[in-house]
Amino acid sequence: MDLDELYQTVILDHAKRPRNHGELPDADACVHADNPSCGDELTLYVKFGESDAGDEVLKDVKFTGQGCAISQASASLMTLRVRGKSSIDAEKLRVTFQNLVTSTADPDPTDLPPPELGDAGLLQGVRRFPQRVKCATLAWNALKQALEEHRHEKGAGSA
Ligand code: ZN
Repeated sequence: MDLDELYQTVILDHAKRPRNHGELPDADACVHADNPSCGDELTLYVKFGESDAGDEVLKDVKFTGQGCAISQASASLMTLRVRGKSSIDAEKLRVTFQNLVTSTADPDPTDLPPPELGDAGLLQGVRRFPQRVKCATLAWNALKQALEEHRHEKGAGSA
């Protein structure tokens, strides 16, 4: 199976059976994001907690929404990758993903995506289709907003 075939298989599977799909009633952050150019929309729910080492972690991450296969699969893959991670590591993954899909370099078909992204890295091919980049980054942008909102809330001392 080459990377393009694997990409198709994984995207279709996640679009059909999205993981971590549903509402999170006790979420600490809830962000709605949409991509009008394609008609994608989603709501991301994040529940924060603390690791044994005292780091802030994303205890639970879920989403609801609808849209094209890429937007829904990307959201599903994103939740799998960042769930249980610290906020700092989640933000690092987000930047890695953003750079991967917006790179202007032509992807070398033999180049494997960064391993820390797991299957989410298979979306690297969307950089060849600029109008689909927004579909792929929709969930990750919502994640960025959720992390920022939570940081501000904590900074304001409301926690
Ligand atoms: Zn889309």
